[in-house]
Amino acid sequence: MELVFATNNKHKVKEITDLLDDNFRILGLADLNITEDIPEEADTLEENALFKARFVHEKTGRNVFADDTGLEVTALGGAPGVYSARYAGENKSFDDNIEKLLREMKGANDRSARFRTVIALILDGTEYLFEGTVEGEILKERRGTGGFGYDPVFLATGYELTFAEIPLGEKNKISHRAKAMRQLLDFLNSGK
Ligand code: IMP
Repeated sequence: MELVFATNNKHKVKEITDLLDDNFRILGLADLNITEDIPEEADTLEENALFKARFVHEKTGRNVFADDTGLEVTALGGAPGVYSARYAGENKSFDDNIEKLLREMKGANDRSARFRTVIALILDGTEYLFEGTVEGEILKERRGTGGFGYDPVFLATGYELTFAEIPLGEKNKISHRAKAMRQLLDFLNSGK
């Protein structure tokens, strides 16, 4: 089965290709010569993922899936959530976003948070949603240099190393994205 992953991120394409057997072939947007940035302007992860999947489906008629991820912090009422990528503003760095997060959480006793990934799949014209989460807490300062985004301040429950300290292969096994991908794969492998 051939599926389009509506992303320009080659690492994400590789991550899921590694999880799949030979029955599946994953194409990124670059493989279809789709170079435009698909807007992510909705107020929920679900709507953003669906928008991206529908955009590519309408353009190509192919089976497609798209993902969207956010960091949901309890003490901030679920923020930055769907706005995680641009929490500190447009064109700000990962570091700026962490800086703002630590500032907003100053004095917060409840440090609990989770990463949540939603995947929208359009298969033979029908839409499906899948989800993966990883629970944890936000540290008061950064630890580690690996990963990306909020990884240096995110400690998954039951772990002593942050997402920026554990080896990438390990993170990719337990992450929100990996869990959502596994939901998708289980569905595809079940022959739906
Ligand atoms: P995206 O939907 O995968 O582009 O993720 C949106 C934003 O969430 C990213 O820009 C990061 O700020 C944050 N994010 C997503 N996944 C991770 C992760 O695995 N670690 C840390 N931050 C992440």
